[in-house]
Amino acid sequence: MEIGAVEQQLKEHGALQTHVDHFWRQWILRKNPTARTPRVPEKAKETFAEMNRMLSGLYSVIEENPSPDGSLRLVLRLFDNQLIETVVLPGNGVCISTQVGCAVGCLFCMTGKSGLIRQLTDLEIVSQVHAARQYRKINKVVFMGMGEPSHNLRRVMNAVNFLAVYGAIGYKNLVVSTVGDKRLFDELRKSKVKPALAISLHTTDDEKRKKLLPGIKPMPVNEIMDFADEYATLGAYPIQFQWTLLKDINDDEKEVDDLIALWKRRRAILNMIPVNFVEGNSFTRPSEERMEEIARKLKENHVLLKYRNSAAQEVDGGCGQLRARKLKELEPEPVPVKNGSISEDPALK
Ligand code: SF4
Repeated sequence: MEIGAVEQQLKEHGALQTHVDHFWRQWILRKNPTARTPRVPEKAKETFAEMNRMLSGLYSVIEENPSPDGSLRLVLRLFDNQLIETVVLPGNGVCISTQVGCAVGCLFCMTGKSGLIRQLTDLEIVSQVHAARQYRKINKVVFMGMGEPSHNLRRVMNAVNFLAVYGAIGYKNLVVSTVGDKRLFDELRKSKVKPALAISLHTTDDEKRKKLLPGIKPMPVNEIMDFADEYATLGAYPIQFQWTLLKDINDDEKEVDDLIALWKRRRAILNMIPVNFVEGNSFTRPSEERMEEIARKLKENHVLLKYRNSAAQEVDGGCGQLRARKLKELEPEPVPVKNGSISEDPALK
């Protein structure tokens, strides 16, 4: 179900906007009603109860996988038995999925292998924040899990808006990730809602990029950078770029020199993450020494770098890997660890 459809049902049964606002806030903030919560009109009570039942059936957490770095990978089962990954991050953040599968098909990514299976609804997107709040306080949401957000644009923008209005998360802590897409860029230009932006670049070479992202026709890197500059001014916060480090693909001197040239006079952050091993893939990470060398050279040349080098490769650490393992295991019916139910709301009785 979509956020708008729920609101329509509530309003058709006599709810005012203020009732709707409280309904959403209580759910996404996992709060109980207080004395100041407005009483729901008599004729709307059954619809409110029905919508609460629907929300409690949105997802079940069927796997909790803690990592040594403090993150917690979750697998959520949706109403139609599709599985998605949500990662509760150290430092009160959560990384959420926007699609089941993904059409971009990045060669080094497990999610990309399945192609696009289905879009998530805006409610399913925000429900992952609801799920994460069972474990930690959440004040940052990164749309960087399974899926390419620009391929589910309307729902992603609805989710951004919902989390800012009801979820107590500032726009600059709502980070939408993309491989670069004109439709998303056009939408962000005209939208009053200005989330932070993360762009997955991986290489400065357009031809190489086409091969790494075979499911789409990628935007040229120079057009992506032009938009990043424009948006950094519009949104007033620096753009983040993702660079998955791949041995013998994007770790040579030319790539490093081209990156340095691209970063000249730019206020952008480069996140370098060594690739995670994916079954059936030949991609590996550069040696420790090479990664350190690249990081040193970039820093010396004033590239604002965040470089995460976990010495050991995390088991199921890459996007979509835990889901893939769970799918293999799921012969018997999965048993929910926790469900999406919210505490009973006396105002709705
Ligand atoms: S890395 Fe992201 S964009 Fe690429 S296939 Fe995986 S989910 Fe899609």
